[in-house]
Amino acid sequence: MSLNNTPSGQRTHIGFFGIRNAGKSSIVNKLTNQELSLVSAHKGTTTDPVKKAMEILPIGPVVIIDTAGFDDEGDLGELRKKRTYRILEEIDIVVLVLDARETKLSEEELSFLTEVKERKLPYIIIENHTDETEAHGYKELSEDEDIIFLDATNDDMTQVKEALIKLLPDKKEPALVADLIQPKSTVVLVIPIDESAPKGRVILPQQMVLRDLLDHNCKIICCQPSELAEALDDNKEVSLVITDSQAFGQVAKTVPKDTLLTSFSILLARYRGSLNTQLEGVEAIKKLQDNDTVLIAEACTHHRQCNDIGTVKIPGWVNKYTGKDIAFEFSSGNDFPEDLSKYKLVIHCGGCMINAQEMQSRVKHCKEQGVPIVNYGMAIAEFNGILDRSLEIIN
Ligand code: SF4
Repeated sequence: MSLNNTPSGQRTHIGFFGIRNAGKSSIVNKLTNQELSLVSAHKGTTTDPVKKAMEILPIGPVVIIDTAGFDDEGDLGELRKKRTYRILEEIDIVVLVLDARETKLSEEELSFLTEVKERKLPYIIIENHTDETEAHGYKELSEDEDIIFLDATNDDMTQVKEALIKLLPDKKEPALVADLIQPKSTVVLVIPIDESAPKGRVILPQQMVLRDLLDHNCKIICCQPSELAEALDDNKEVSLVITDSQAFGQVAKTVPKDTLLTSFSILLARYRGSLNTQLEGVEAIKKLQDNDTVLIAEACTHHRQCNDIGTVKIPGWVNKYTGKDIAFEFSSGNDFPEDLSKYKLVIHCGGCMINAQEMQSRVKHCKEQGVPIVNYGMAIAEFNGILDRSLEIIN
């Protein structure tokens, strides 16, 4: 990913939903001015969610998601329906496309709308194919419901863009770290460049912290763990050190006790509002017993290295910290399990490649099933006995 691109996690995610042949894909293609989805008169042409990150003027950076019809049939259809509903977890705005040629709403459409309302997701309703029929509107919908009537073949998408703009999430982002320190402070960022570091770039939480500090006129020193002692010797005015969690143990020994120390992932958890839940997750690590099963979840499917953090280092640290014989299972990308009942704890990566909505949805999913969740950074700080110290900056 280029530094010039808006990361997927910070784009507005707009999902298009409806029964098969309602015209979702035609609307998506016209709105995006691209052949994003295959359009056909045959029902069910879109089988799996189609995602595309793009810039739509004047809406801004978005991820457009076209989904399979939720009236899909058969075993495969059920699977697709499930995937379509799952997309709701990462959506900022729902666009429900209805087919004006149908005289009444189907059960699927009504139950989908109920689900959207229960999740309190902002939505717009489009009635498509209005050129082919005289009857517009449905008695099953309340009169307060704003409906956009159009025909995707002939009409432009001005009405749709205007409705979407009204629903855009508040773009005023909270600060990641700059609100916790004095303006113009000197901050050291410790970024290990080892075999697990991506080629030619730094990862998203590091980019985000860097930008936040630059926005607040801070002086920034970046170094690897092995250069930290020299960097601190040369710069006596350093007020904060932010490290990659993997280097926490080594970094904590080098940073003087009167200098603040924290990690990128702790800052990201605070930024996303999940810090207190994560602290409960830390308590759950302490209570693990022999034969308990822990899920280690990562939000993307990056290439795993031989000394991989998720599959090798974290299990090793958990076993050493607890002194128990723990069983581990792993998930990555979209494979986060529906049923968490067999797990005593979920240890999740920072989730930098998914948006806040999806991360919150995973945290909520854990809470609903009574399974504590903690992120890598806080777990590693606890394993190294420096959690309290790394939270000092926030408390
Ligand atoms: S999504 Fe998770 S595993 Fe992937 S790069 Fe971000 S923190 Fe690492």
